[in-house]
Amino acid sequence: MRCVIVRRSPIHGKGVFAMHALAVAERVLEYRGEITSWRNAVRRHQRESVEGHTSLFGLSDGRVIDGSRGGNSARWLNHACTPNCETIEDDGRIFIQTLRPIDAGEELFIDYLLAVDDPEDEEARAQYACACTAPDCRRSMLAVAA
Ligand SMILES: [Zn+2]
Repeated sequence: MRCVIVRRSPIHGKGVFAMHALAVAERVLEYRGEITSWRNAVRRHQRESVEGHTSLFGLSDGRVIDGSRGGNSARWLNHACTPNCETIEDDGRIFIQTLRPIDAGEELFIDYLLAVDDPEDEEARAQYACACTAPDCRRSMLAVAA
C-alpha cells in the first residue's frame, strides 16, 4: 500500500509526505538507485543538478546510493539533522523507517549520512549545506567525521 506522496516542500524543492498517519517503526520506502562511489556521484551531480536537490544517500562502506539513477520517490526525501525517519541498512539495501508516530500530511526527513573523503573540503561543505530548522543543526548534510 502506498503511504507516501511526493509534493512541493516548504523546506526545499520537493519532499516526501505521509498520506496517512504512520506508526513508529513502519518501513515506508526503500531508498533505491545506483550504488556508486562518492567521488563519482559528486562529479555527476555538479554536472546535472536536479533542482538543486541532493539525491545521494551514504552507505556504511563509504559508497553512496544515487537516487537520480534508477531511483524511486525516496530520492525526494529532504535531509534534516533531527529527522523523523531513520535509515536501516539491510544487506546492502536501505529502508526508510519511521522514528516516531507521524501525522497525515507531515513531511518525512532522513539524515543523508554523506561521508566525504576530505571532511575539510569547503566546496563540499558549501554544496551540501543544511538549512533545516533543528536547534542543533550541523549546517551540513555531511556526516560527522568518525
Ligand atoms: Zn540541519
